[in-house]
Amino acid sequence: MSGWSEVHGLSVAEKVVLSAGAYGSPAILQRSGIGDPADLRAAGIAPLVDLPGVGRNLHDHPIVELEFAGSERLRQLLVESASARFTPEEQTLGKLRSSRATGPYDLHLFPVAAHPLSLLAGRVLLVVAAMEPRSRGWLRVAGADPEAEPVIEHGYLSDPEGSDRAVLAEGIERARELAATEPLRALIGDEIPPSLDHAIEQIHAHYYHPVGTCAMGAEADPLAVCDGAGRVRGIEGVVVADCSLMPVVPRANTNLPAVIVGERIADALLAGERGE
Ligand SMILES: Cc1cc2nc3c(=O)[nH]c(=O)nc-3n(C[C@H](O)[C@H](O)[C@H](O)COP(=O)(O)OP(=O)(O)OC[C@H]3O[C@@H](n4cnc5c(N)ncnc54)[C@H](O)[C@@H]3O)c2cc1C
Repeated sequence: MSGWSEVHGLSVAEKVVLSAGAYGSPAILQRSGIGDPADLRAAGIAPLVDLPGVGRNLHDHPIVELEFAGSERLRQLLVESASARFTPEEQTLGKLRSSRATGPYDLHLFPVAAHPLSLLAGRVLLVVAAMEPRSRGWLRVAGADPEAEPVIEHGYLSDPEGSDRAVLAEGIERARELAATEPLRALIGDEIPPSLDHAIEQIHAHYYHPVGTCAMGAEADPLAVCDGAGRVRGIEGVVVADCSLMPVVPRANTNLPAVIVGERIADALLAGERGE
């Protein structure tokens, strides 16, 4: 908040920076009457600003976890490394190109080998993540109560061309090739069902990287919520600075990109204060 104004005897912030994340920020805007007017009315909220993109375009990297039996040798190595105060549960990451990749890679592949006493209770996983997801979901508040959780439909693997499913299937194939290669094979052991053919249906999950629900974009884009400086369209003084601003999820884990969004929006705000 950069300053305060007096309105009807109340101090009102001239600028509000919204940074409640890809689930929290669109929910706060919707509760404030900013969003798709039909959805807002259905939730009993009076529409103030018509911005149908608020809460839409929700996406994340879908993942599949292949589980393996592990081996006595692997358990022994994990216990030994933990006693040396080193817990290498996730230390390597492969980047792969499926036949549908548009850039240098569109798959992450990483092993998770958990210490027997960790939260994962000794599970051994090979995780496959689709890094250019095409599927989109949405988020809507059911009412103005700030304590109530929003309704969230992620829409994982729902893209009409079945692209996310196909990319994950290719990733699974590559993961299984790797798992059958020594010395990994002897360490991680046999794959544990669910049945191989239905692995995607049964065990797809996400990478904890939700984005896109207050997306920045060109003025001509009817679903763009914010401009290039994170300013919410149609209202003065509200700026978004979190992963909800990303129109497309980066082909990467989102923590560092989130920090960069914060830094870029802070720079833009400071430049505005200086009148640049
Ligand atoms: C379990 C987990 C593991 C992850 N691991 C990694 C990793 O290894 N590497 C990586 O790069 N990324 C990782 N991520 C992703 C990364 O943490 C996020 O992309 C990043 O934190 C998003 O930043 P953000 O500012 O958009 O939102 P957040 O970090 O979610 O910040 C939003 C904040 O707003 C608060 N908030 C929400 N609603 C309200 C409200 N109504 N009023 C007040 N406050 C509110 C929330 O409590 C939260 O503190 C992980 C995420 C999770 C959940």
